[in-house]
Amino acid sequence: MSKPTLAVIGSGIAGLSAAWLLRNQYQVTLFERHARPGMGAYAVSAGTNQRTGKAVTIDIPLRVITSGYYNELFNLYKTLGVEIERTDHSGAFFTHTGGDIFHYKTYTIGERRFAFLNSPKRLSKHNISQGMAAIKFFAEIKKVDLSNVGNLTFGEFLQQWPHSKANFIDNVLMPMLSTICTCDYDSVKQYPASIIIGYLACGVAKDGVWKATHGVADIVQRITQGYQVEANCDIQNIKIDDTENSPIQVIFNRHQQTEKQSFDHIVIATQPQHAAPLIEAAAPEIVQHFKHIKYAKSSMVVHRDDSIYPRPWQDLSPVCYSINPSLQRPMATVCLNKSMPTVKDCLPIFQTWHPTTTIAADKTLADVTFERPVINFDTLKHIESIKQSMLKANNRVWFCGSYLGEGIPLLEAGVQSALFVANQLGAYKPW
Ligand SMILES: Cc1cc2nc3c(=O)[nH]c(=O)nc-3n(C[C@H](O)[C@H](O)[C@H](O)COP(=O)(O)OP(=O)(O)OC[C@H]3O[C@@H](n4cnc5c(N)ncnc54)[C@H](O)[C@@H]3O)c2cc1C
Repeated sequence: MSKPTLAVIGSGIAGLSAAWLLRNQYQVTLFERHARPGMGAYAVSAGTNQRTGKAVTIDIPLRVITSGYYNELFNLYKTLGVEIERTDHSGAFFTHTGGDIFHYKTYTIGERRFAFLNSPKRLSKHNISQGMAAIKFFAEIKKVDLSNVGNLTFGEFLQQWPHSKANFIDNVLMPMLSTICTCDYDSVKQYPASIIIGYLACGVAKDGVWKATHGVADIVQRITQGYQVEANCDIQNIKIDDTENSPIQVIFNRHQQTEKQSFDHIVIATQPQHAAPLIEAAAPEIVQHFKHIKYAKSSMVVHRDDSIYPRPWQDLSPVCYSINPSLQRPMATVCLNKSMPTVKDCLPIFQTWHPTTTIAADKTLADVTFERPVINFDTLKHIESIKQSMLKANNRVWFCGSYLGEGIPLLEAGVQSALFVANQLGAYKPW
């Protein structure tokens, strides 16, 4: 008997995971508007590694992960055979005028890794006091009983928590969180406290940061086996007839031609702001929920312009934050040569989030603007309604994306949301 057909719209981590998890039970077609699957759509070539002579590709964004927080993603990578490697994301914090705030570095002794103050050159009374505040903060945040912070925003929680040292919160913690959540400080403070604490308490500071050794291209190659991928297909509309078992029509533009295909089920794995226009006519009541989910824009530049760093930059920790108190976000630059083993022997190359100074155009390799949902208590109500809509009997329209998982919309949440949909459609976790 032939399998039922299923369309997945969008090939970020959520769509790729859903398509892969459902490939045995359904005849799956994955549609992506970019020329390459979305997770790897913005990768850029960065020349060759001068030691190995191998070509180097840089993913945009890098997509780093931590073992304590990314349970399902680690399981997925293991099942797919994706190798992972450690990266160094320790930080150097400066004011926008170049004044020292805080420097820490990751040290390795045998198998153990730990964060501590950077080189003696950077030791100062101020740096030591920030270091002590950080140690205290991360030790105490693990002890917070999440059931006691249920109604608090993260901002409210910080205001009443005795371990919140204003200097550390404003100059170190908020710049880091604003970079991780890619939104402004006010939006970070509007996150439910339990979500941010859940992230901070998961050993982020202790176990360090990892990434896929061979980058997103390797993940995509493994996770696109066993089903059909249709790139360059910009979905315009989805037509759903309420009559039971009537096919769902997917209408899309490919190379300036309009095409149409029919499916038994559909998984919309785009971000919420892109899902709404697709189902405006077919499911207006759900569109209202999508329209309430806010998103933030952020830009990322990959470049070779070292003037972005305070001098001398060579001994700084890999991630350099520039903090201007009159702005709502820091500028954060990763020196990829220091952070990633595969890029160590390449010409200097940097990835800057939210540039606030000019990066030389002739040293720029890529400049990409991203959108990403931000979570607050109002958003959570609408997300819950979207989840409930999928539990209706005989439902055939499914949604997944990192905004529908638990916690911060990161890769882990994307995989969680795909597992939820796969489970509803009769496919179980292969791990
Ligand atoms: C700057 C930045 C840095 C980040 N760094 C990290 C990190 O280090 N670690 C981490 O865990 N997370 C990180 N994230 C978050 C992570 O990238 C997201 O959580 C994740 O990409 C969301 O996956 P998704 O599948 O839900 O959505 P997306 O990745 O947005 O995928 C949706 C896909 O749908 C496609 N699409 C949309 N509309 C249509 C249409 N009409 N037709 C066809 N296709 C369509 C899009 O092109 C896209 O490919 C970062 C995010 C940003 C913005």
